Parts: sequence; C-alpha cells; structure tokens
Amino acid sequence: MAQIFAYIAHKNGVVDDTAAELAVAAKKIDASAQVTAIVTGSGATLDAACQGAAKAYAQVWKINKPELAYPNAEVVRKLLKNIVPASSIVLVAHDTFGMDLGPGLSIKMDAAYASDVVGIDGADGSTLKIVRQEFAGMAHAHMTVNAAKGAVLTLRPGSFQAGDAAGGAGAVTDKSGDAGDLGAKRKFLQVVEAETGDVDITKSDVLVSIGRGIEDQENIGLAEDLAKAMGAVVSCSRPIVDAKWLEKARQVGTSGKTVKPKVYMALGISGSFQHLGGIKGSPFIVAVNKNPKAPIFQVADVGIVENILEFIPAMTEKVSG
Ligand SMILES: Cc1cc2nc3c(=O)[nH]c(=O)nc-3n(C[C@H](O)[C@H](O)[C@H](O)COP(=O)(O)OP(=O)(O)OC[C@H]3O[C@@H](n4cnc5c(N)ncnc54)[C@H](O)[C@@H]3O)c2cc1C
Repeated sequence: MAQIFAYIAHKNGVVDDTAAELAVAAKKIDASAQVTAIVTGSGATLDAACQGAAKAYAQVWKINKPELAYPNAEVVRKLLKNIVPASSIVLVAHDTFGMDLGPGLSIKMDAAYASDVVGIDGADGSTLKIVRQEFAGMAHAHMTVNAAKGAVLTLRPGSFQAGDAAGGAGAVTDKSGDAGDLGAKRKFLQVVEAETGDVDITKSDVLVSIGRGIEDQENIGLAEDLAKAMGAVVSCSRPIVDAKWLEKARQVGTSGKTVKPKVYMALGISGSFQHLGGIKGSPFIVAVNKNPKAPIFQVADVGIVENILEFIPAMTEKVSG
C-alpha cells in the first residue's frame, strides 16, 4: 500500500479539528498505515502545532520556512511535490485552502484527484473506494479512484468523526532541509479579519440558525424570541444574508463563519455542504424541516419534520414556561 500523508492546517499553534479527521480517514484507507502529518509554518507557533498533530499521527514532518508563514497554496503545492514520495496518497481538508491546494497538487504529482470526499470504504490494492455526495446531498455516490500513481483527496470537514482517531506516537522530524525551491508568483499581502458584527456567533454555545424555510423577514423575530428564551444567538444560512434579512456576520458556512457550538438548531435549512462546512467539531444538531428527505437529517442528532413557523413559537413557549 502507498504511503499516506495528511496536510495539517493550524492557526496560532492550534491544529484544526480536521487534523484528527484526516487521521481517521487515513486509517479507513489502510488500518495498518503509519500515517505522516505534514505541518508547515514559520516561527514559534509551529512547534505547538506539531505537538498537536502528534496526538493523532504516528509521525509528524515539520517544515519551518519563512515562505510558509502564511497560507499560500502555491507554495504548499511546491513543497508537497518536493517532499512527498511519488505514488503517495495525500489527504487535505476540503476547506477553502484545500480546494485551492488539491487539484493543482494532483497535477504536479501526476496523481488521481477526488474532491469533497465524505466517506471511505477501504481500498483494494491501489484502488480506493470513496463516497461523495451528489445533488446537494440527496444522493451518495460510491466511486473508485485509481491511485496506482498516487492520489490527492480533499475530505469534507465533519465527515470523519475525530473521536475515532487513534493515539499517535508523535515523533516529530524536521524536514525543512528537504523543502526545496518554494518561490511563488502569488504573494501574501495581508490578513483581513472578517467583521464580527454586533454579535459574534462563533462564541455562542447554542445557535438558533434559520434558513430559507423562515419564508419572510418578519418571521425572523420568532427565531430571535426563541434564541432569547434559550440564551442562544441567531445565525443563518446564506440566502438569509443574500436577502439582507440578517447581516453577513451571522452567516454559517464556507463563505461565512465557522462555528463550534455545543448545540446547533437548524430551522428550515436544507443542509448544503457549503452550510455544513461551517460547522466544526461535533455539535448536537437539532434539525427542523418540513421535508423529511432534506439532507440536513443525515447529520442531525434529532430530526423533526415540522413547519418551523409553528414549531418555533411552540418551542419558545415551552422554554419560557
Ligand atoms: C461558492 C458558494 C458558497 C456558499 N456558501 C454558503 C455558506 O457559507 N453558507 C450557506 O448557508 N450557504 C452557502 N452557499 C449556498 C448553498 O449552496 C445553499 O444554497 C444554501 O446553504 C441553502 O440555504 P438554505 O438551506 O437556507 O435554503 P434551501 O436550500 O432553499 O432550503 C430551505 C429548506 O427549508 C425547508 N423549509 C421551507 N419552508 C419550511 C417551513 N415552513 N418549515 C420547515 N422547513 C421549511 C425546505 O424543505 C428546505 O429544506 C454557498 C454557495 C456557493 C455556490
């Protein structure tokens, strides 16, 4: 079986939740694999990130280079091409950075590519058995990937339960000397932090999140009443922001905020992958939707088939009473 590598995202020395998820996915490809985490960066926080990755991986390659101080997919692509042996399997999170990194990396490696993978059914020799979603999550497609010359897979965050990650042995090896030429045409300019608005939805333990099912701007008050009764904060899907019913800072998803609440109430939200991509960790998801086939029910801990315009006031009354 080919060697398996995972590219680890981190911020200020704290590894992303996807680090453990990629480790779980790697074991689904090959349970006996000694998976290598690749952690890149520059400066003091890199060692902390390596230690974080070591909790879930047998070995960690640390690459400390000034060019890697900020996320730049062009630089990381070059690096991975330089240090990963031919015909390897590289796992990357399917977030905005991974979407930028993955396709070009597979071309540089002359390897197969599969994006937004939500499941892995093992491998048969060099053939990987993967699962992707089609039709906005309404169908699961079981596919094979010919990884004879290697493969790059981007894995949807939240699809592989990090709780299953086996403890790593955690040997950190400094591979900075092997990084090679990392010159790039794309230059890092600055970090622009997203506006937090009047409320920071990333800080709330409970989110009452509304989607297009709320139907009308004047119904948003119903969700606000429920959130107030529960000590929660109102967040939303993108159509609510597009309609200018709530400000952008309330949007959950790949082009909105990434949230990590303990409880996430999805009210009239279908469960697109762009929306679910903004929910980190494993919150307890309560989904209320009038369509029993809505994809959100596939990830919900509690699913309620109901009209939210009736459900929300009834729940507010119960919680308040
Ligand atoms: C590049 C890109 C980035 C994107 N980024 C994001 C993002 O960051 N966040 C995001 O959310 N989306 C994002 N989207 C949009 C995403 O693809 C979906 O269109 C969006 O998430 C759908 O929002 P929704 O679930 O509220 O609406 P819909 O998909 O229209 O779903 C509405 C749901 O409400 C249910 N419903 C309707 N009326 C009721 C009722 N009275 N009671 C109960 N249920 C009801 C319906 O059955 C349906 O399931 C992005 C899209 C693209 C292309």
